Amino acid sequence: MELCFATNNQHKLDEVSQLLGDSFKVVSLEAIGCTEELPEEQDTLEGNSLQKAKYVSDKFNINCFADDTGLEVEALGGEPGVHSARYAGEQRNNEDNISLLLEKLSNQSNRSARFRTVITLILGNQIHQFEGIVNGEILKSRRGEKGFGYDPLFLPEGMNRSMAELTSSEKNAISHRGDAIRKLVAFLKQH
Ligand code: IMP
Repeated sequence: MELCFATNNQHKLDEVSQLLGDSFKVVSLEAIGCTEELPEEQDTLEGNSLQKAKYVSDKFNINCFADDTGLEVEALGGEPGVHSARYAGEQRNNEDNISLLLEKLSNQSNRSARFRTVITLILGNQIHQFEGIVNGEILKSRRGEKGFGYDPLFLPEGMNRSMAELTSSEKNAISHRGDAIRKLVAFLKQH
């Protein structure tokens, strides 16, 4: 079965394709001719991933899924959450986002946080959602060069290396996105 993953991020596409094996062919937005930016106007991860998946399935008439991820910091009431990509402004700059987060937590002893991913799958006319979470805490300064986004600031629970100090396969094994993808894959394999 052909399934569109509503992304052009090659890393995410490879990760899902590997986990799904041969029964599903995962195609990108580019492959189905979708070149426009997908709408993400909702105020929750659930809402945004649904909006993106629905846009693609309605317009291109294809089974598809979309993901949305946020870093939720307890002391900030769940911020940056759904605003993670644009936390420090429309320029969507990782370094600016990290600096702003460090500043907001400068006097804060509660550093608990989690990454949360929601995947929405639209199969036929049915909607299914899958959630993946990794708990951890926000470090006082950057550590590590790997990964992307907030990885240098995130210490996963029970580990002594930041997310940016893990190899990609170590990260996939414990990450929010890996967790949500594995739930999606388990569901698809039953269908
Ligand atoms: P997206 O929904 O995957 O595009 O993620 C939204 C934003 O959350 C990204 O721009 C990053 O700032 C952050 N983010 C998502 N996934 C990760 C991750 O695995 N590590 C660090 N930051 C992430």
